[in-house]
Amino acid sequence: MQAVPSYLRLHESGELARRIEAARSILGDCTLCPRHCHVNRLQGERGACRVGRVPMVSSFGPHFGEERPLVGRYGSGTIFLTSCNLRCVFCQNYDISQLAMGSEASPAELGEMMLSLWRQGCHNINFVTPTHQVPQILVALPHAIDGGLDIPLVYNCGGYEEPATLRLLEGVFDIYMPDFKFGDSAVAEQYSGVPHYVESAEEALREMHRQVGPLLLDERGVAVRGLLVRHLVLPEGLAGTRRVMGFIAREISPDTYVNIMDQYHPCFRAAEHPHLNRRITPEEFAEALAIARAEGLSRLDGFP
Ligand code: SF4
Repeated sequence: MQAVPSYLRLHESGELARRIEAARSILGDCTLCPRHCHVNRLQGERGACRVGRVPMVSSFGPHFGEERPLVGRYGSGTIFLTSCNLRCVFCQNYDISQLAMGSEASPAELGEMMLSLWRQGCHNINFVTPTHQVPQILVALPHAIDGGLDIPLVYNCGGYEEPATLRLLEGVFDIYMPDFKFGDSAVAEQYSGVPHYVESAEEALREMHRQVGPLLLDERGVAVRGLLVRHLVLPEGLAGTRRVMGFIAREISPDTYVNIMDQYHPCFRAAEHPHLNRRITPEEFAEALAIARAEGLSRLDGFP
């Protein structure tokens, strides 16, 4: 069985065209994300994410290092969008997210990237850091649909999302994969440079779960729809794992698929922050897993 992605119905009904226009109009006074920069990106102004009207892409290709339900046999078709609305001092992709290494692409070129990944057999199109380029993705999507695209889209984001923007994506993205990075907004402000991170991430997860529910897999174990949450364990308990896991288990669903990640290593400007200037210990990771289980979560990536 291959599930039909929701965006095909939206396209047929004409609703996708309406969403594209609604998303594009936000660029004129940008409130796409909670930073609310209010710049006119249609006129070339740039806000904190430093991307204007035209899509910017750093790289694309089949990716086999994502979660198993996304990778399946033929890989997740990742498109790394340039820049980010967060300023994480420890970013492991800082050349893309903070140094903005990437190139402008036309909507047709972005659509062709999706089609190229689809032709290579990828199970999904995985937009990495899409938040600040939502309208650009939507504008490119009809080109890919007209070319035959029929695999789910993945919204792979940092969790600092605007609910109004997410509502425009209902029926477009079948799979949401947000980070939930911090359980304390003061820590988030210090290390990721944005206010109200926790409140924004919580509201975003509620909206995503309302739209797509828990992660559903097909008979091959490949994701077709649903929510998958990532949480990177930081040294010294800085990720606030207990609060994050408690929220997911109680306010979203104990059936939520969660990837608790152990790969933290000091990158970018982490060395300037003594608490972040080391890898996590095996004990810290084991404690994070134990917290998730104690809070009632059982769908933990890599730990059946
Ligand atoms: S998407 Fe970019 S310009 Fe728009 S509010 Fe967010 S950071 Fe600012």
